[in-house]
Amino acid sequence: MVTGGSGFLGSHLCERLLADGNHVLCVDNFFTGAKENVEHLLPHPRFELLRHDITFPLYVEVDEIYNLACPASPVSYQFDPVQTVKTNVHGAINMLGLARRTKAKIFQASTSEVYGDPEVHPQQESYWGRVNPIGPRACYDEGKRCAETLFFDYHRQHGLRIKVGRIFNTYGSRMQQDDGRVVSNFIVQALRNETITVYGDGSQTRSFCHVSDMVDAFVRLMATGDDVTGPINLGNPAEQTVLELAQQVIAMTGSSSTIEFLPLPVNDPVRRRPDITIAQRTLDWAPKVTIQQGLNDTIAYFERTLGIART
Ligand code: NAD
Ligand code: UDP
Ligand code: UDP
Repeated sequence: MVTGGSGFLGSHLCERLLADGNHVLCVDNFFTGAKENVEHLLPHPRFELLRHDITFPLYVEVDEIYNLACPASPVSYQFDPVQTVKTNVHGAINMLGLARRTKAKIFQASTSEVYGDPEVHPQQESYWGRVNPIGPRACYDEGKRCAETLFFDYHRQHGLRIKVGRIFNTYGSRMQQDDGRVVSNFIVQALRNETITVYGDGSQTRSFCHVSDMVDAFVRLMATGDDVTGPINLGNPAEQTVLELAQQVIAMTGSSSTIEFLPLPVNDPVRRRPDITIAQRTLDWAPKVTIQQGLNDTIAYFERTLGIART
């Protein structure tokens, strides 16, 4: 079962799990996901799609749960912050209850946001983070932190087999064109020759991982022995500034866009790069797709969906 299965990461995961021969139950309330993301999977005999909001109980029979349900872009998770907290907390309790009853293994899509605006660089799993508990990002950051707490309490208290992955910025096809994340924003703006909106002076950094590498890490983490619980950082350690990304996207699309500098959102982390030593050792995994290759693939996707040819 994949919750949030019709979203960006979830739809790629469903595809991968089907290709590996699994039966897949995709559960989604279509808040930020789209039926179109999994439309091509609907005829597959081992695929099933269920409209359901995980803040409500769910009784199904499953043996592995990937809990991805939660809006991921700051624009979407701040649209209805109370629902974001409910999805992270009530949703996690329901999915953990389901895992407890069915004795399923359960993976949690946690996030680098648990580190907040970090004082430690690069971020290691042992770092406890620096999160503003009352800021506009808190519904997501604290929601995800509480979900991690719940996962570890269910593990200690009820012996659940848990797998917590801390996902760093991931990009690729099926990101929504208007969901506000930086890679999709810049590509869509560049393809339309519109102004590229860099927040702040663009010197803040992120480390971008292609979706194909990320999904491979999810599957590897799920396949580990019961002693492996995480949390494990999952991401690409290649760090760059947001301004560099803007320039790269303009160059790769041949766009005539210019860059506009807008105010930095509140509590926007200054630096972010995963230390993936544990993932490399435990999962025998490291990202393979370079930012150049990944952007090429993502630009091609948006060219198709927007019906825009590269100039
Ligand atoms: P997304 O918004 O494309 O996907 C989230 C999916 O969850 C959507 O299909 C949405 O409709 C669904 N959903 C939301 N609330 C729900 C609810 N209450 N019940 C059922 N379904 C619900 O985002 P994504 O990038 O694919 O992210 C997937 C997961 O990975 C999220 O949990 C996110 O927090 C985590 N994550 C993603 C990134 C990233 O860079 N993409 C980074 C860190 C963590
Ligand atoms: N739950 C669910 N599906 C199940 C089992 C449980 O959705 O198959 C939900 C149910 O809402 C419950 C929650 O998970 O309240 C937590 O379950 P748990 O067994 O941990 O505690 P309970 O509240 O049942 O004592
Ligand atoms: N950003 C930007 N322009 C945009 C969207 C985002 O400069 O149009 C910046 C944002 O301020 C942040 C970084 O890009 O510093 C990554 O933003 P995103 O929303 O993709 O993810 P975050 O890592 O902040 O959750």
